[in-house]
Amino acid sequence: MGKYYSHNFIRSILTMNDLKFLTKKERDCLIAIGEFGKQEFPIRLVNLSEILNIKSPTALNLVTRLEKKKLVTRLKGMINLTIRGTSFYHEIEENHRILETLMVTYGMDLDRACTLAEQIDYLVDHSSIDAMFLKLGKPSKCPHGRTIEQIHD
Ligand SMILES: [Zn+2]
Ligand SMILES: [Zn+2]
Repeated sequence: MGKYYSHNFIRSILTMNDLKFLTKKERDCLIAIGEFGKQEFPIRLVNLSEILNIKSPTALNLVTRLEKKKLVTRLKGMINLTIRGTSFYHEIEENHRILETLMVTYGMDLDRACTLAEQIDYLVDHSSIDAMFLKLGKPSKCPHGRTIEQIHD
């Protein structure tokens, strides 16, 4: 984790259908693993079930599904994103920030915008995100102040 992959690289291995094949629960699980991975140690099942507020067997089930989709690996109880998983994570993060910016720009409350963006950030296709990004005047940060990479067309 912590590595940044270029947008072109992400696009070369992602398609719109790839994004659609995640469920909301899988999306939440992937995001939790990605967030936690920024710390020193990779996430474990116990952390994951705590963060997602679900029981361990449910967390294991989600991780297994993400493993089958080649987004995470499990080794000695530690769960890591694969390169593909990292790309998905960055893509969803970026989508989230742009959607949030769009909603707040048009008057929505930030907390509501953030919550709503979580429901759709893993579903939106590249060209729609690019179109929004352009229309918004290529913002460099989301309303929380988190960076939006200048990688859109
Ligand atoms: Zn947010
Ligand atoms: Zn934000």
